[in-house]
Amino acid sequence: MCGIIGIMGTGKASSELYNGLFAIQHRGQNGAGMYVYDGEKRRLHKGPGLVGEIFNKHILDDLKGSSGLGHVRYPTIGSDTGRDAQPFVVYDPVEIAMVHNGNIVNVDQLADEMEVQLESECDLEVILTLFSQELKKEESVTEESIFSAVGRTMDRLNGSYSVVAFMPDIGMLMFRDPHAIRPMVYGGKISLDGVSYAVASENIVLDILGYEIIRDLRGGEAILVRDDKSVVKRQVRKSEPRHCMFEWVYFARTDSTIEKTNVYEARLRLGKELAKVWKKKNRDLDVVVPVPDTARTYALAMAEELNVPFREGLLRNRYIGRTFIMPDQTSRETAVRTKLNPIIEEVKGKRVALVDDSIVRGTTSKKLVELMRRAGAKEVHFFIGCPPIRSPCYYGIDMPTKHELKASHNTVDEICKEIGVDSLTYQTMEGLINGLKRDIKHLCTACLNEDYPTQVREDIRQYFAGKREKEREIVSAQESSIT
Ligand code: SF4
Repeated sequence: MCGIIGIMGTGKASSELYNGLFAIQHRGQNGAGMYVYDGEKRRLHKGPGLVGEIFNKHILDDLKGSSGLGHVRYPTIGSDTGRDAQPFVVYDPVEIAMVHNGNIVNVDQLADEMEVQLESECDLEVILTLFSQELKKEESVTEESIFSAVGRTMDRLNGSYSVVAFMPDIGMLMFRDPHAIRPMVYGGKISLDGVSYAVASENIVLDILGYEIIRDLRGGEAILVRDDKSVVKRQVRKSEPRHCMFEWVYFARTDSTIEKTNVYEARLRLGKELAKVWKKKNRDLDVVVPVPDTARTYALAMAEELNVPFREGLLRNRYIGRTFIMPDQTSRETAVRTKLNPIIEEVKGKRVALVDDSIVRGTTSKKLVELMRRAGAKEVHFFIGCPPIRSPCYYGIDMPTKHELKASHNTVDEICKEIGVDSLTYQTMEGLINGLKRDIKHLCTACLNEDYPTQVREDIRQYFAGKREKEREIVSAQESSIT
């Protein structure tokens, strides 16, 4: 998962990109980058780390331009170093800078077929190389040839991709995979600088920068904002929407609206759906406590529906970020405690409803429950906003391999016993659909039921499982070398 922004024709693109990247920092904390163009010169700055660590006033002043691209990186595959940070740029047949959000399932096969030496492990390099190769097959670079090249690129890509590209003196191009798995929305504004356009992963970027939302891009659609600011839209491949349900459940910012469904409102409805399941069990609760931050909205609605007090029984240390290093085994054990601390007065002697968005491996859930028990909770009833996650995601959410996913090989009773709770209430599939108010036909729910929107062959599953295991070994070796 990553966050992308494209800006075309504004006063100072770098300051808009900088503010916009901060707004979507939640979509990736491992790297960030920016490409800007001022009509003559182009500038690129990127690296590993948070937006605030990579850019400073001096760098931003140097990034002069009226158009550009921005990116925050969340690695599913690839390294943590600056090598895989986006944007990427090629210069043949024309200069093309590009960013994307998603994950290409057949990345390895395409890399082999293209017969070029790739410089990174980032799947964007494959998309960009493929698109430039398709563009090279055209007689000249025109609006029509760009759309044709996008179509042929889409035909070869398997996976999720929301892409923004900038071609100096030609324009800004955006396109989204036919299943529209990852979000992408564009808008425009009129200011003293004239008309400008922006596209981003989430509408909050456009809201903050004063752009009026035009609409979400359709699956299989490409839009070119030409150099003269005229806009050309083309449905280059058939739209077959299968939006990722996890964007509403966990990933997107609570104040975002995706495909016209507000994330906050969706999470409130999901909380109410959880309460409905609990009502059938006919048991009493004294307090509803969220695991901050996503589950707060679920818990709020649940408490309201059950008429049970909502309390902040767990507080997050907001200053712990990705730079937090666990120097030894002992402190690794207490990592959860360092990040989250219970308010004993709110849970002691009480029947606590602890609410979280999802269970992945179950290790964090177990530690959270232990925290509640040590704080004196009389009973701990665990509520999960999402149905059981049983299969890995191949479209950009970093999940462990199937055998590491707790719900893939354990029943609810077994999980309940292992994490040490008095009861475990998962969201139902029906509750999920009601909460998101969407037709299941148009959602990706593959990590719940293995109904993948694109073909994911067994050898590809093995390939990704192997890569993830290898990367975890590297991370663990790096952690041990710190001790
Ligand atoms: S598999 Fe799950 S996380 Fe991945 S895109 Fe589908 S719904 Fe989203």
